[in-house]
Amino acid sequence: MSNHKQKKAIIFGAGPAGLTSAYELLDKTDIVPIVYEMTNDIGGISKTVKYKGNRIDIGGHRFFSKSRRIMDWWCNILPLQGAPAKDDRILKRVIPVSHEVKRKIIKNGNIWTEPPPDPEKEHKVLLHRNRLSRIFYLRKFYDYPISLKLQTIKNLGLRKTLKIGYSFCNTNKGSNRPNTTFT
Ligand SMILES: Cc1cc2nc3c(=O)[nH]c(=O)nc-3n(C[C@H](O)[C@H](O)[C@H](O)COP(=O)(O)OP(=O)(O)OC[C@H]3O[C@@H](n4cnc5c(N)ncnc54)[C@H](O)[C@@H]3O)c2cc1C
Repeated sequence: MSNHKQKKAIIFGAGPAGLTSAYELLDKTDIVPIVYEMTNDIGGISKTVKYKGNRIDIGGHRFFSKSRRIMDWWCNILPLQGAPAKDDRILKRVIPVSHEVKRKIIKNGNIWTEPPPDPEKEHKVLLHRNRLSRIFYLRKFYDYPISLKLQTIKNLGLRKTLKIGYSFCNTNKGSNRPNTTFT
C-alpha cells in the first residue's frame, strides 16, 4: 500500500489507554497510530515524575489484573523478575519468581523464550511487591479501595457516612455505567 493511502488513527493522550491502543493498532493492523499528548510527558496519571533527583509515581501504581490476558500483556512489555531483589534477600522475603520469559515480537507474532531478568542487573523488570495502600482523610487512615466496614463508619462518624452513602446512591441512580473493579 502506498504511503498516502495508509489509514491513520489519531489518538489523543499518551496515558495507558492511548499508548495501549497505539500498540495494539501497530501489532494487529496496518493502521498507523499518531498519538498527540498535550503535556511534555507520557504516561498520563500513571506516569513517574522526577523531582529533586527522585522518581515518584503519581499514586502508588501497581500492575495487577485478575485477567490472565492483561497480565500476559504487561509481562510481554515488562518481564517478571527471575531472581529476588536485594531488599527481598535482606528481609528474607520469599517471593514468586519466573523461570522463563515468553516474548512476542510486535507485528510478526513470533514467540521466543529468554531467561528472566535479574532486578539487580536490569531495569526493565516487573517486581513482586507487598503493598498496603491507605487513604489518609480527616487525619485518619481508610482502606484502599474503600470498604464499608465498622472501622470506616467509626472513622467517618455516622452523619458523614450517611451523607456519603446518600451522595453515592444519588450519583449511581439510573447510571448505566458498567460494573468495573478497580484495584
Ligand atoms: C492515586 C492513583 C493510584 C492509582 N493506582 C492504580 C493502580 O495501582 N493500578 C492501576 O491499574 N491503575 C491505578 N490508577 C488508575 C490509573 O492511573 C488510570 O486508570 C490510568 O492512568 C488511566 O489511563 P488513561 O490513559 O485512560 O488516562 P490518563 O492516565 O489520565 O491519561 C490521559 C492523557 O491524555 C492527555 N490528554 C488529555 N486531553 C488531551 C488532549 N486534548 N490532547 C492531548 N492530550 C490530552 C493527558 O495529558 C494524559 O497524559 C491509579 C490512579 C491514581 C490517581
